[in-house]
Amino acid sequence: MYARIIIEYPIKTLDKCFTYAVPDNIKEDIKVGQKVLVPFGKGIVFGIVLELTSDKPDFDVKEVIRIDNKDIYLNKEQLELGKYLQEKTLCTLITAYQAMLPSALKIKEQKSKYDKYDTYYTLNKPVNEIDKYIIENERRAKQVAILEMLKDGDVLKKEINSSSSKTLEKLGLIKEIKVQKYRIDKKENKVNDAFVLNEEQQKAYNEVDLNNYNTYLLEGVTGSGKTEVYMHLISDVIKNGRTAIVLVPEICLTTQTVKRFYDRFGGDVAIFHSGLTPGEKYDEYQKIYREEVKIVVGTRSSIFVPLKNLGIIIIDEEHSENYRQDSNPRYDAKDMADFRARYNNCPLLLSSATPSLEAKARAGKGVYKLLSLKKRANNMMLPEVLLVDMVSELKKGNYLFSSVLKEKIQKRLDNKEQVILLLNRRGFATFITCSSCGYTYKCPNCDITLTYHKSSNNLRCHYCGYVTKKDDLCPKCHEDSLNYLGVGTQKVEQMLNELYPEARIIRMDQDTTTKKGSLQKIIDDFADNKYDILLGTQMISKGLDFKNVTLVGIINADTSLNLPDFRANEKTFSLLYQTSGRAGRDKKQGEVVIQTFNPDNKVLNLVKENDYDKFYLYEMNIRHKLKYPPYTYITLIVIKSKDYDLASKTALDIKKYLEPRLDNKTIIYGPTPASVFRINNIYHFQITIKYTFDDKLNKVLKELETNYNTQSQVALEITFNPARF
Ligand code: ADP
Ligand code: ZN
Repeated sequence: MYARIIIEYPIKTLDKCFTYAVPDNIKEDIKVGQKVLVPFGKGIVFGIVLELTSDKPDFDVKEVIRIDNKDIYLNKEQLELGKYLQEKTLCTLITAYQAMLPSALKIKEQKSKYDKYDTYYTLNKPVNEIDKYIIENERRAKQVAILEMLKDGDVLKKEINSSSSKTLEKLGLIKEIKVQKYRIDKKENKVNDAFVLNEEQQKAYNEVDLNNYNTYLLEGVTGSGKTEVYMHLISDVIKNGRTAIVLVPEICLTTQTVKRFYDRFGGDVAIFHSGLTPGEKYDEYQKIYREEVKIVVGTRSSIFVPLKNLGIIIIDEEHSENYRQDSNPRYDAKDMADFRARYNNCPLLLSSATPSLEAKARAGKGVYKLLSLKKRANNMMLPEVLLVDMVSELKKGNYLFSSVLKEKIQKRLDNKEQVILLLNRRGFATFITCSSCGYTYKCPNCDITLTYHKSSNNLRCHYCGYVTKKDDLCPKCHEDSLNYLGVGTQKVEQMLNELYPEARIIRMDQDTTTKKGSLQKIIDDFADNKYDILLGTQMISKGLDFKNVTLVGIINADTSLNLPDFRANEKTFSLLYQTSGRAGRDKKQGEVVIQTFNPDNKVLNLVKENDYDKFYLYEMNIRHKLKYPPYTYITLIVIKSKDYDLASKTALDIKKYLEPRLDNKTIIYGPTPASVFRINNIYHFQITIKYTFDDKLNKVLKELETNYNTQSQVALEITFNPARF
């Protein structure tokens, strides 16, 4: 028997199978998908078996040394998925498989390190022999007690460890056993019953065909009960003996969502996200692998879990950019989900209050089936939104808080209701704005905010390369107020404390949530009304459901409008609309105050109208005019090097290489310095490729990748459909 094996090195030139002979002693155990040790060159390396064959190769081969991990291997679906991932992202196959495994099972890890055991005592003889011993040794009360206990079931050793237990062990009546212990306890209690779906929910639910592959887009306003629809579908899927994956964008969101799933489905649920320790992840992976759970709720990488016989895949908040990984392999979890839904012939349900334009456009064309929920589940109205002009507030001396917002916060404090405040830090500190009039620099060609480069004191479009000098005075209002608008959450918190000394304020941002469990605690405490005001960054925008919040304040709406990204409008709309959606989710009407330097801005006014569909039409029009996705595709090539000249020269060479090889309708922009130009002294240049259809692109980029990534001084990163620029 022979095995075709890929080895651990993620190098283009080694991205192929090597053949080894399988020695007799492991013939029985070796399986496709297993991790093995093989000789390679002068050393010993890990590999993954991709194929077993009896065909004898016509060259000499070495032998497989041993199987590294007999218990867990990649199944057939995962192996196929890995190949798909490789094709989609141009990574090496080993990189694809590595990405699919939790860190504890990655190729060089020793699995044994992660197994955790409890030691139990158990009976080592049949019950009749035990009973005989009990009768003959009646006066040995302690021994008898232990044996009686063990007759009812195994007991943790530490609870009955004594000289008596040791004697019984010596006599061979009882023995120790090790039982694997999961770090996250199985939740048995199913505390919540399902709601009866309302008419809209029922209609959406009815539309989903659980027996066939289809992609659905569930578009439902905030609080419309989308999660309830998923849970009903999943419940059916499980009844049919199948399984479900629910992807959520980040743990911030998982915490509350996970609880809802635990409460409904108890021990059938495993969770999987970056907030878990490697040990916890390993354990959850084992629960899944051993088919002890039926539902996995988790972030991006959960799409790779070895759940068998999938019956539905749900992507919650599908518009989120968290589904795209921006390091190698640069995959989109949605593509992976699509592959698995096809493979299992089951539905893929994308869901959002603010779908990505791509998804909505596909639904418009009938590629996806559109399901919509237009009302909040409990018939509450969507919150009322007020736009406040900060230019005039500044003149009154109100810097961070407008008079209106201050008043409204005070009213909530008086009424014992809660407030959420968003400090929008997206796109911070990369652009210049006028603090008197709100002016920002935009590229005349691309309508994208220019990025400020401090060293050269100029502003650049990192998309087309347009450059201009920074003025001393604002070109619009001629004030000397061109600067970064940089204020941190801490500063805002301090100001809030001064304004409302009696208020209990909690801050949720990077700094306050790094410690394990701290995020959950903030959420729980706020839900328990231990605080009056929750101040946070975009972390607070999604998924959270607090009953007593009646006011949401957006301190600075504008920063994200100025993201140097053609998706700036979309990201802003989604952020503000979702954050607004945190208000008035229960019995009391909600209100939202949005502070801005651009009160006439169309996007903000559409947030005010709570109208996603109008936003969609408005933004599609712009995308059409400027030929941005979803009317085109974009692929980004980033060229990185410690050597500035080499990076810049390579970037030019690449452009020259591409030009004659791509379709003549394909546009190549750049090279330009990337938006983050220098990181750790590595220079980043980028080339942007825009196309509607180019059947040569994939092949050309593959060749390009292989040519350049075998060099050591420059590195290339190719991202199809990047989430960010
Ligand atoms: P979404 O995910 O669309 O934002 P949720 O699923 O969080 O909405 O639902 C919002 C609120 O409405 C939740 O508190 C949920 O328990 C409640 N809810 C959802 N569906 C129903 C229903 N059919 N009947 C009563 N309450 C519901
Ligand atoms: Zn430009």
